[in-house]
Amino acid sequence: MRQSGAVSLPEPSRRDTRLDTYVDAYAERTHGLTVSAVRALFAVANRPEVVSLAGGMPNIADLPRDALAKAVDRLIAERGTQAMQYGSGQGEPFMREKIVEVMAEEQIHAHADDIVVTCGSQQALDLVTRVFCDPGDVVLAEAPSYVGALGTFHAYQCQVVHVAMDDAGIDPVALRGALVSLKAAGKRVKFLYTIPNFQNPTGVTQTLERRHAIIEIAKEHDLLIIEDNPYGLLTLDAQPMPALRSLEDENVVYLGSFSKIFAPGFRVGWALAPHAVREKLVLTQEAATLCPPVFSQFAIATYLEEFDWRAQITTYRDMYRERRDAMLTGLREHMLEGTTWTHPEGGFFVWVTLPEGLDSQAMLPRAVTARVAYTPGTAFYADGMGSRNMRLSFCFPTPERIHEGTRRLGQVLEQELELHRTFGLGAEAARHHDLTAGPAPDIS
Ligand code: PMP
Repeated sequence: MRQSGAVSLPEPSRRDTRLDTYVDAYAERTHGLTVSAVRALFAVANRPEVVSLAGGMPNIADLPRDALAKAVDRLIAERGTQAMQYGSGQGEPFMREKIVEVMAEEQIHAHADDIVVTCGSQQALDLVTRVFCDPGDVVLAEAPSYVGALGTFHAYQCQVVHVAMDDAGIDPVALRGALVSLKAAGKRVKFLYTIPNFQNPTGVTQTLERRHAIIEIAKEHDLLIIEDNPYGLLTLDAQPMPALRSLEDENVVYLGSFSKIFAPGFRVGWALAPHAVREKLVLTQEAATLCPPVFSQFAIATYLEEFDWRAQITTYRDMYRERRDAMLTGLREHMLEGTTWTHPEGGFFVWVTLPEGLDSQAMLPRAVTARVAYTPGTAFYADGMGSRNMRLSFCFPTPERIHEGTRRLGQVLEQELELHRTFGLGAEAARHHDLTAGPAPDIS
């Protein structure tokens, strides 16, 4: 049955273009690169009638844009010839000094010399992987992990081995087990990639005890830790946890970003790395971009100097807390029995586990038709797991829309369960018995 007000989805276009001529010429490392579920989803889920709980866009509507415009005007008038010029491959010294101040909020004591400014923390991930990984090298990551990091590891042909986690973060027993068995198999693990605070996609925060355990294991096994912490200051309930880098400075490369605490469009992030690694990162950065965006660094430094950025983070926290609470209330009211979800203390995401037999990827087209979108759990695993999971983000829609989104999702789940019961088939097969709607969007 088609619901009133349902979205009809476009036929996917399949045009042959001249680009196909080059299909044999692509480098081997591009072969596994396919459109991610998240990216393809944006096209459909951004329509106004769809409540998108799929993307991870920060809500920056509360920024003081008029005052920022004046500050940027002044920047161009007074320092434009420097701000619009090439700059240092490592990042501008004043920017790195400011980053030291930002990291001090998370009890990280660092020197500006050990920082490399990057084009978002996404580029820091790329540079770190480029520095450490040859094709076939093993990288450890939480199960599940950030889709953008998995994309980077994939692009460098790494083998991602997932390490089990629970609601206290990475399971130290699983981590030790993975290191021992990979060593026995003759595999060298290049690093552990972890998001200890309000993890993307689960919203889980590593406990202090686990942080110490992970650091101990890393020391025992000479394991480098890549700590990715874009959400750390967006704590919604308690004080921020000490970063792994604040507990251990030898074996940790720390990645930070202004995307969530200020705005992502400037594309400024950073890596804080032990000395020798920092050298390599700078050379790699120079090969990649000559220098990170200079104008953005001037603009962000101006913001940090002239605005009360700590108060802005408090404003963000209050706004995201209300949205997180709307999502948790909506889930409590509308989810099917047997559905469970995490209770994040910060960040943007809730991770949902569906009752047995339901498949989040198979049901996504029907959910979008019912005007609600989410990211299927499979996007966050390198090994095809996660079909009973979905990531819901509470960062962008208003609390009212979030609540409505959970209501629609609840209805979709009920229909899915009905389909599952009626046909007694796996959800993938049920897709071919789709009674609800027109063509599916391309979400592969
Ligand atoms: N790491 C994680 C865990 C993220 O969620 C994101 C963005 N969603 C990034 C890195 C990249 O952020 P940016 O490049 O904007 O700093």
